[in-house]
Amino acid sequence: TVKAKLTDPEQEKLTKDMNELYDRLQPTASIEQNRHQLVRKLEKLFNDAWPGHDIRVHLFGSSGNLLCSDDSDVDICIVTRWKELESVCKIADLLAKNGMEKVVCVNSAKVPIVKIWDPELQLACDMNVNNTLALENTRMIRTYVEIDDRIRPLAMIVKHWTRRRIINDAAFGGTLSSYTWICMIIAFLQLRQPPVVPALHQRQHQMLPKKDGEMAAFADDLDQLRGFGEKNKSTLGELLFQFFRFYAHEFDYANNVLSIRLGKTISKREKNWHLGMLNNRLCVEEPFNNERNLGNTADDTAFRGLHLELRRAFDLIAQGKLDECCEQFEYPK
Ligand code: ATP
Ligand code: MG
Repeated sequence: TVKAKLTDPEQEKLTKDMNELYDRLQPTASIEQNRHQLVRKLEKLFNDAWPGHDIRVHLFGSSGNLLCSDDSDVDICIVTRWKELESVCKIADLLAKNGMEKVVCVNSAKVPIVKIWDPELQLACDMNVNNTLALENTRMIRTYVEIDDRIRPLAMIVKHWTRRRIINDAAFGGTLSSYTWICMIIAFLQLRQPPVVPALHQRQHQMLPKKDGEMAAFADDLDQLRGFGEKNKSTLGELLFQFFRFYAHEFDYANNVLSIRLGKTISKREKNWHLGMLNNRLCVEEPFNNERNLGNTADDTAFRGLHLELRRAFDLIAQGKLDECCEQFEYPK
């Protein structure tokens, strides 16, 4: 049988261990400074090379959602009205000539990107042009993180676990991106009884007016949203235990879809995601585009591997073994 809950001393000990690990995962100030330095450096480089186009450089992803660790890459979005820049290889050429290393231009992807390594600032960076949706979904994640003080440590620790177990690489590993994992954490928090976070997309009455007059797609009035989760009294340790229990043993992967947009699960059948879709074992709806499944980077084999990792993590957390749970995965020799 599957352990249903931790005893009080067990969850207190786990919470204490998690808080210690969380302290160690805090990003180093000098590395944070380098991320901002990189933004300024790129902005100068682009505007010097192509004056008159008003090119702006923004951070997104973990550099903007409060879930950054020292080994996170830097996600950069270049915003300009100069459409020619959207075919990114111009950018790759310029950067290669200006001291950047390992420059790769991925022009075929849905969102073309340039990857670089900055040897001076010691940072890996992915950049796109005008993918402003990514700025908005980053702001959504950040808003969720700020609703309740338990979310940041919980999410930082789950991300740490995915890095150590090598299950956070959508592009090469065929597993899941950090973004997909974060969406799974939010979905889990929405499904608690009582919920720790609401479904921000459903709360039109808590959206702040934006400068450009456009409507935000999700509630972002933090003054009203903070404290939402107070009725849920679970400690950090209990939440981590429940997170692994939920994804190891409770969630019905065969029939259901996780929807952050709605704050509940819906059936694959209802979305027509039950048939003929590639890689639909794990279904996680992208909240800004509900036709997209964030889980489709994992094929059947990868899904089985992920499910095994989740069960392994649950077994170890149920025994209070946080360090062992996050032990570095080593490929068999
Ligand atoms: P890490 O610290 O591991 O780099 P991260 O929060 O930066 O974590 P990434 O997976 O690197 O997460 O994604 C960076 C950003 O790219 C996300 O915040 C999101 O804005 C965007 N993104 C990533 N994958 C998708 C996707 N499948 N659909 C839409 N946006 C995505
Ligand atoms: Mg990132």
